Amino acid sequence: MNNSIATFPVPQNEPVKNYAPGTQALKELDAELKRQSKQIVEIPLIIDGREVKTGDIGKVVEPNDHKHVIAKYHKAGEKDVKMAIAAAMKAHEAWGETDWRVRASILLKAGELIAGKYREKINASIMLGQSKDIFQSEIDLCELVDFLRYNAAFAGQIYAMQPKPDAGMINTLEYRPLEGFVLAVTPFNFSSIDSNLNMSPVMMGNTTLWKPSSTAYLSNYYIMQVFMEAGLPAGVVNFLPGKGSVIGNAAVASKDLGGIHFTGSSSTFNGLWKSVGMNIDHYKTFPRLVGETGGKDFIFVHKSADADAVANAAFCASFGYAGQKCSACSRMYCPKSLWDSVLKGIKKRIGEAKVGGIMDHNNVVNAVIDEASFDKIAAAIEFVKKSKDGKIVAGGKHDKSVGYFIYPTVIETSNPHFKTMEEELFGPVLTVYVYDDNKLDKTLELCESTSPYGLTGSVFGNDRLACEDICRKLRYCAGNFYINDKTTGAVVGYQPFGGSRASGTNDKAGSMLNLLRWVTVRAIKEVLVPPTNWKGTI
Ligand code: NAD
Repeated sequence: MNNSIATFPVPQNEPVKNYAPGTQALKELDAELKRQSKQIVEIPLIIDGREVKTGDIGKVVEPNDHKHVIAKYHKAGEKDVKMAIAAAMKAHEAWGETDWRVRASILLKAGELIAGKYREKINASIMLGQSKDIFQSEIDLCELVDFLRYNAAFAGQIYAMQPKPDAGMINTLEYRPLEGFVLAVTPFNFSSIDSNLNMSPVMMGNTTLWKPSSTAYLSNYYIMQVFMEAGLPAGVVNFLPGKGSVIGNAAVASKDLGGIHFTGSSSTFNGLWKSVGMNIDHYKTFPRLVGETGGKDFIFVHKSADADAVANAAFCASFGYAGQKCSACSRMYCPKSLWDSVLKGIKKRIGEAKVGGIMDHNNVVNAVIDEASFDKIAAAIEFVKKSKDGKIVAGGKHDKSVGYFIYPTVIETSNPHFKTMEEELFGPVLTVYVYDDNKLDKTLELCESTSPYGLTGSVFGNDRLACEDICRKLRYCAGNFYINDKTTGAVVGYQPFGGSRASGTNDKAGSMLNLLRWVTVRAIKEVLVPPTNWKGTI
């Protein structure tokens, strides 16, 4: 029962470890990278706490060296999804009735294990499988730990939210888990999100089917093993590598679908939402649909801005993790008076940033995730080279002979509706529309209406009142808005994350607001001495 209201304190964020050259931490990480590079891990399904090997095998390659196979995985079929649903439903009652502090202790223990003895193992698997340098991987790992720890504290705050007492009665809010299983469909780009899409519903007493992204199987499998080591009971999370549509269709067809917790592209989420709509008559309850999707995130520069600060933010937000953060900056509006200095600053930084594989820690821009992504971005760059409205002013090179490398690229356009100003590319490509300093309001309207997304955005300027006005005019353009900061780098507990419009349901990961989506509340009133005289009461 959720009968204890003692809360856990709000945690400190996990400190980001400095893997500086020559440190013991870096030596241990390098040894782990070497160890993992030499093996091919066999990844099974995990259903009801047991490994299931289907024999239908796929392979996982390293994006920085795509001939290098790092894992082989078993693919789930429809029958396996049905087994996983049965396991999740079987585990549902006992898990939902487990004291929430016991549930929290399992999340907290998983956090300790990941921050401690498995840190290098999980970092190395994220680096090899998801193409992150050690800095990007370490911030992903710390965020993973933060989600686990903060969720325990947020849950305590939720359970403590109770109605006011009154004489002669007791009023209680019972925070029940959803009546069904949650389908967690997770993206390639953040292992922290992959874990959290399961563990925030799990914290609130739900059980899940986990459909990981094929390019994140290695780290996700290790994380699943940590959950079990931390004491997660069988059937609470059921791990299902395999084809998205096979797993998605079978799960959505179940009458017991309680919710979907999704992060990925808008088109995949739209498809899932449509399938739920088609099945709506069959469900026991209306499934909760929570999705964080794509973005076309922007920096809007006011003429009062510091050009070097803008260049730094644009460089970091556009090219960090090769532009594959959902919050990555991919369009910028820059006044003519500042553009030369801003471009100079971006080019200087591009000149300093090395492109290459993750084994060499001097490389800060690594390969993009897979061939399909590479081909899409390379085609867009080639399109720009032939177009009249846009020109490449930095970068423009790409090479997939060894790994899927796209060099940091800046496009300048005179057309605010240029293809790369509107479509999400998900690579290290920034498009800049240079506007006339006197056309601020018109340019703000363009920024407001150009993209269907609404995820992150920022304004740069030293004129604070102008920034305030811009912030107000761009109110619905971004669920996470920054003043004089880059568009990336939201931190759990500080900037709850999510966007609206085509970017998702804005249910703010890293906050209590997200956890509230995974409960269905029952209000219970108890009268201490029931009245027997009806007069004056009806
Ligand atoms: P994706 O949509 O290709 O895949 C996401 C997940 O959906 C994967 O696990 C995939 O296997 C699965 N999937 C695909 N088809 C499916 C189907 N028919 N049924 C069920 N599952 C299916 O996205 P991705 O390439 O992994 O991630 C990149 C996208 O994610 C970008 O658009 C990015 O902006 C977005 N993203 C958003 C946020 C956010 O917080 N808003 C965070 C990270 C990533």
